[in-house]
Amino acid sequence: MSISMDDLELSCWECEGQGVLLNEEKEKIACSKCDGKGTVLTAQGQTLLHFIKKHL
Ligand SMILES: [Zn+2]
Repeated sequence: MSISMDDLELSCWECEGQGVLLNEEKEKIACSKCDGKGTVLTAQGQTLLHFIKKHL
């Protein structure tokens, strides 16, 4: 079985992968959708993450 990164995470659509958003005062704030990472886990990515945490 092969998994590509695209199966595990997607570029965040909220901040367009930047990890930051501008608030009303035009200040940069960490994107709450992706926690500032710029990527969002897919369902498959979350499954893998849970699997890894379980075995750490
Ligand atoms: Zn984001």
